[in-house]
Amino acid sequence: MGQNGHMNDLGTILCKHCGEVIDTVDTDNVVTFYSSCKNDHCNELNSEVLFNDSEG
Ligand SMILES: [Zn+2]
Repeated sequence: MGQNGHMNDLGTILCKHCGEVIDTVDTDNVVTFYSSCKNDHCNELNSEVLFNDSEG
C-alpha cells in the first residue's frame, strides 16, 4: 500500500487544434484540458485563439 502509480491519470490534455493527446494528468475526475501541441500548424493557430492562457 502507499505506492503511487501513474495509472490513474484521469485528466487528458488534448490539442485543441488537431486533437492530439499531449499529456495526461492525475486528477480526481475525468477532465479534459485543451492546449496546443508542438506541431507548427497548431502553434500558428494558437496565436490566433481567443482564450489567452497567461501561463509561461
Ligand atoms: Zn495540434
